[in-house]
Amino acid sequence: MQYDYLIVGAGFFGAVFAHEATARGKKCLVIDRRDHIGGNCYTETLAGIHVHKYGAHIFHTSDRAVWDYVNRFTEFNNYVNSPIANYKGEIYNLPFNMNTFSRLWGISAPKEAAEIIQSQRGAITEPKNLEEQAISLVGKDIYEKLVKGYTEKQWGRSCDSLPSFIIRRLPVRFTYDNNYFTDRYQGIPEGGYTPIFEKLLEGIEVRLGCDYLENREALRSLADRVIYTGPIDAYFGYALGRLQFRSLRFETELLDTDNFQGNAVVNYTDRETPWTRIIEHKHFEFGQQPRTVITREYPADWNPGDEPYYTVNDQENNDLYSRYAELAAKEEGVFFGGRLGEYKYYDMDKVIASSLKLCGELL
Ligand code: FAD
Repeated sequence: MQYDYLIVGAGFFGAVFAHEATARGKKCLVIDRRDHIGGNCYTETLAGIHVHKYGAHIFHTSDRAVWDYVNRFTEFNNYVNSPIANYKGEIYNLPFNMNTFSRLWGISAPKEAAEIIQSQRGAITEPKNLEEQAISLVGKDIYEKLVKGYTEKQWGRSCDSLPSFIIRRLPVRFTYDNNYFTDRYQGIPEGGYTPIFEKLLEGIEVRLGCDYLENREALRSLADRVIYTGPIDAYFGYALGRLQFRSLRFETELLDTDNFQGNAVVNYTDRETPWTRIIEHKHFEFGQQPRTVITREYPADWNPGDEPYYTVNDQENNDLYSRYAELAAKEEGVFFGGRLGEYKYYDMDKVIASSLKLCGELL
């Protein structure tokens, strides 16, 4: 065999595994069907601005070991995610906090906000759908202005026809704190994400534009073991059926202005505006460039061949995944990981932790 490991996918799961295996003297070949490394975290430079090509990525974690690990490959800035909601031109802070409530109701004391929310929750004890669930959590005003339209666009369905389990929690804060995440560590890598992957994969053979499934036999024969981070159902030729996803469409524009919206992330929470968010990439890195790049994000149904962004972890899909996982466990010398290999929404820190765990088991 030419290689100890063939690693399918140059996202965080694959790149971390390749790095660790190489550091332990294993010979690795990394392939990716795309023409770049970095998976969905890939950033490309446009007019001096690092553009998050597959959607805004904010690194946040409470896992000290993962934070220390990733800091070996980049320096993070002090960006704190504080998104804004735009509802028909009205501007609100997110996550729902005292700034939001003060703007909604003209109040200033936490007690007043808590009373208003309580009075709007109604007496729903067993929510029948997402609408009832959301109202029972945050009351009618917040639901109508900040949850309903956004969620309906995201899922392409009305909230009263969506299952309640989609929204388990809607955090409400009675402090004036706009920091979206509650994690101990957060930031954006200076210079974007791509340099992290360049460092992780330094000195490792990488073949881009190379699809494992199109040339499986030849590629499999190159290595003792395979780490596969592509879609698990595709690996098995969809033998048990297709797993479902939600997709996204991005429209990116370079604008001749230095500041379009004054914030990296603005959510459009009404139903009529067709996009859910506009990302202004320079604000992730406090950019001072003369121009700016924005990306409108449109939720989209997923059809075979589309980019699979979000897993749909309902009972039916989870059951199907479990059956694929049983097949995967019998696959000699092949290990499945990452968001597509495990059919799971994974934040970056969790993917890194999971890849390091597999390293611990195999290396
Ligand atoms: P990926 O990054 O998807 O990498 C898998 C790679 O495998 C891809 O490059 C793919 O091309 C390749 N591949 C697949 N099949 C094959 C094949 N047959 N042959 C060869 N190559 C193949 N996480 C956060 O922590 N913070 C955020 O703010 C955040 N924002 C997100 C926003 C969006 C819109 C999305 C979709 C995700 C976001 N995430 C965020 C999650 C983050 O993107 C994932 O945690 C991370 O990308 C998962 O890494 P991975 O290696 O598992 O998968």
